[in-house]
Formats: sequence, structure tokens, C-alpha cells
Amino acid sequence: MSDALITLDNLTVAYDRHPAVHHVSGSILAGSLTAIAGPNGAGKSTLLKAIMGELRPAEGRISHRLQRTDFGYLPQAAEINRRFPISVFDAVLLGAWRSSGAFRRVLAHETGKAREALSAVGLEGFEKRHIGSLSAGQFQRVLFARLLLQDAKLILLDEPFTAIDARTTKDLLDIVARWHGDGRTVIAVLHDFDQVRAHFPQTLLIARKLIGWGPTGDVMSPANLLKARAMAERWDEDARACEPAA
Ligand code: ADP
Ligand code: MG
Repeated sequence: MSDALITLDNLTVAYDRHPAVHHVSGSILAGSLTAIAGPNGAGKSTLLKAIMGELRPAEGRISHRLQRTDFGYLPQAAEINRRFPISVFDAVLLGAWRSSGAFRRVLAHETGKAREALSAVGLEGFEKRHIGSLSAGQFQRVLFARLLLQDAKLILLDEPFTAIDARTTKDLLDIVARWHGDGRTVIAVLHDFDQVRAHFPQTLLIARKLIGWGPTGDVMSPANLLKARAMAERWDEDARACEPAA
């Protein structure tokens, strides 16, 4: 397919040879807005990390023509260290730093953009606050401001709205819609099915194996959701052998 941004071909990802994602094939289309849904332990974060290039496939492959700096990644909250002693403003600037790699340019140009990004996420006046002093919702706004500054082509969000208040969730969903409107490709791991149906046109439903991938209305059918739950109940955490592709 010509407009595929990322193609997964029989992708299997394993931890110490225990497969967490089995035989997934399909494409993320450029400019698409996709939810990754599935039960706890389904391999959603693993899949995102494999797409990021943080985990190597045990089998199969991932192909794309993206550069490192084209990726914007927001890990699950549990994986982020908020004790890191920096201000809100510096935390946002770090996003630009990573993408431009040039300190002088960061100072000259990105400072203004960092202010704009903070204002876009509703955090004007918070510049000097220590990130450790923020509420969960405010901190998530900081991380979205960083992504805004990073100007990535592909944005990967791992459970961005878990334990986040409703008002912040709404504001951040607006930013996701804005990214989508700009033509960026967005993939978000979500566990709230209503949110998936309301805001994400495409869904990849996974329970270690792919259950469905396509238009959300088709994929999130009662039959598929039952199948995902049934598969989650049958997981053997110590399974070594990889079952043949479904
Ligand atoms: P999800 O994000 O869908 O909840 P994960 O991708 O985090 O699922 O995990 C999928 C499976 O891989 C789980 O059984 C989990 O315990 C296992 N797993 C995740 N991360 C690691 C790791 N770093 N080392 C070993 N096993 C892991
Ligand atoms: Mg996860």
C-alpha cells in the first residue's frame, strides 16, 4: 500500500524468549488516528515500544522510512520519573532539544515555541514550577506540550488519559484531534472503549494475537471484545512455544 507509514509483517515480540505479541501483520496509514485496545497484559505497550524501535522483533519485521526524530513517544505514566529536578519550562524545552539537537537553536527559537506550547495545554504561568509539584493532570499537560514542541510525524501515546481528570482528558483529546488535523499520524493505547469509539476512527484490537484492525465500528464488535476477554483468561504467562498464526 502506497500510503502506509508503518508496516508490520508477522511481527512477534518477546521478553527473554516469552512472546508478548504474536504474528501481527498490517499497516498504519499515514495521517491515520488509531487506538490500540485490548485487555491488561495484551501486549499493547510492547507493540508500541516495538514500533518505536525500543524493542527488537523476535520474528517478522517492522518497515518504515521514518527518522528517529519523526517519532514522538509518551510512555505509560508508571515509566516516567517525576523526581527529576527540573522546571515545567525546562521539561518542555527538552522535547525540542531532542528533536533539533542544537543547543543554540533551542535557546534562540524554541523558547518562544515552548511558551506557545505551554499556553496551548493551558499551563501559562506554570513555567517555573517544579514538575514534581504538579497534579497528574498538569504533568500530563506538560508532556503533551513537549510533544507539541517536538513536531513529530508519528505520535505514540501509551494510556495518556489513565488517572487523568475529565477536564484535562478533554483538553488533551482536543490536541490529539489537532495533530490529526495537521496530518500527523497518531497511535494511542487506550483502555476506555467509549473514548476509542468517540475519538479514534481506526482500532487495533490485540490480545497478544491480533483480533481485529481497521475501522473502529467493525473492530470493536461485541464478538471481538468477547474474544479478547476469553483469550486473556487463557494466557499462560510461562508459555514458551509460539502457537501458529491464527
Ligand atoms: P499491556 O500494555 O497490554 O498491558 P504489556 O505489553 O505491558 O501489556 O505486557 C505484555 C506481556 O509482556 C505481559 O505478560 C507482561 O508481563 C510482559 N512484559 C512486559 N514488559 C516486560 C518486561 N520488561 N520483561 C518481561 N516481561 C514483560
Ligand atoms: Mg501497557
